[in-house]
Amino acid sequence: MRVHLVNPSHVSFGIAVITPRWLYVLAAATPAKWGDPALVDETLEVFDPSTIGSGDIVGIGIHTGNALRGYEVGRAARERGAWVVFGGIHATLYPDEAHDLGGAHAVVKGDGDLAWGRVLDDCANGTLERIYEAGRVPADYFLRARWDLLPRDRYMWASVQTVRGCPKHCSFCSVWRTDGQEPRQRGVDAVVAEIVDLRRLGFRFIALADDNFYPVTLEDLRMAARREDKTRLHELEALRAERFELMDRLARLPKDMVFYTQITMEAAEDTEFLAAMKRGHILGALVGVESVTAEGLKDIYKGFNAAGDELVAQLRKFREHGVHVLGSFIFGLPSDRPDTFDATVALADKADITFAQFVMLTPFPGTLDFAKWEKENSGADQHVDGIPVTRHWLIPRARRPKVYVPHPVMSAEEIRRRTQAVWDQFYSLPRVWARSKVVRSIKARLAFVLISKLYRQMYANTGISTDSARHESATRWARLIAKPCRRLFAAAPMPELEIPSA
Ligand code: SF4
Repeated sequence: MRVHLVNPSHVSFGIAVITPRWLYVLAAATPAKWGDPALVDETLEVFDPSTIGSGDIVGIGIHTGNALRGYEVGRAARERGAWVVFGGIHATLYPDEAHDLGGAHAVVKGDGDLAWGRVLDDCANGTLERIYEAGRVPADYFLRARWDLLPRDRYMWASVQTVRGCPKHCSFCSVWRTDGQEPRQRGVDAVVAEIVDLRRLGFRFIALADDNFYPVTLEDLRMAARREDKTRLHELEALRAERFELMDRLARLPKDMVFYTQITMEAAEDTEFLAAMKRGHILGALVGVESVTAEGLKDIYKGFNAAGDELVAQLRKFREHGVHVLGSFIFGLPSDRPDTFDATVALADKADITFAQFVMLTPFPGTLDFAKWEKENSGADQHVDGIPVTRHWLIPRARRPKVYVPHPVMSAEEIRRRTQAVWDQFYSLPRVWARSKVVRSIKARLAFVLISKLYRQMYANTGISTDSARHESATRWARLIAKPCRRLFAAAPMPELEIPSA
């Protein structure tokens, strides 16, 4: 009776960019009496059902993007006689779907850190429940991932979580509804210990895989200070102080370490925070820019972001303080017009952002956008292969439309084509070469070009393209350059590295 954990993916590159952290956290949640679980990350290689024996237990974690593949894996495992258990955001939202389509015996809703051990025991005792309400685990119970099980030389970046939850409420995002709006911040010692584990193994690039690394803004503090009751103010100040404590500890790790995180743009006005990030080697951040216009931000309840020239100034602030920005932009917002696409590329150039991603507005389950769109379309007779578009993740990938939300002036195909063109412009060789000035030597600049191209192949040509030849060639190309790219990120292991003291 062996435990298997599978991270499904419809495409395998042989080398992956970031470690799928949940696999290693659930491995840590697997009690020792079960032995080490077998971990399969399909972004590396395809799951092989013949490895599953009758009576084994197979845990599959899914988000909306990989749910369909996850269901294939679940059915294949069940056919082999295994117990099949689903978890992850999508299974939390649609537990019945995992039962109906994925061959599930059980579904864990919410965080698996504590529930997984119980599920395994129930499996052994024949008392497996259909649904486990695991809820949100307090930060003190977040587990230290089993990085000792990581395959060698397959990942470019490792990932460590420092906080779950986000206080914002963007309409296209499910994080604040699933992980909650109250930040659950992990203790500094636990985070640093895990990072040291990874540096010992030879990872010097680590993603702080947080919903929002900056959960307390200066504005939050100002608002709390205005209240007569100072309890909230003190809570927020304590959370903020812990962030600084963490960054101070990161600053005492080996100098070659580089961290990357996800942050809201409001951090631009908090120069003390940006300076601490730089000292702590947090040299890159994904910033959800979303739209370059005030109307676009209003469309998605993201009024706290700046637009136009103020946006350029804010994004530049990150760079001025030594934090590189991966700007994330959404196209297809109701107020977008054909000229929004060029305006976005121009702004990205002007704002000195180092990397960018351009996604199309997609109503993802768990978001406000989805709830509204599903309601509006529930009576509509829009189906592909008999599947309603309101369940778009169940449509086979090759036949799945790329845009779902009707736009007032542009067709879905026009939005897709223009988005693809923006990727092509932003990642054109002359532009990438110009941006590569952020590093000094020619060797480093060539590495920058290689990584930019890999990023674009993995995310644009395999995600947006409807042209299957372009899709296949992008996958082949990404496989080819992934290996040399990984070597650029690797460092010599430091098995003797000590945990810096508090
Ligand atoms: S998009 Fe970012 S800022 Fe908005 S709710 Fe999601 S995690 Fe928070």
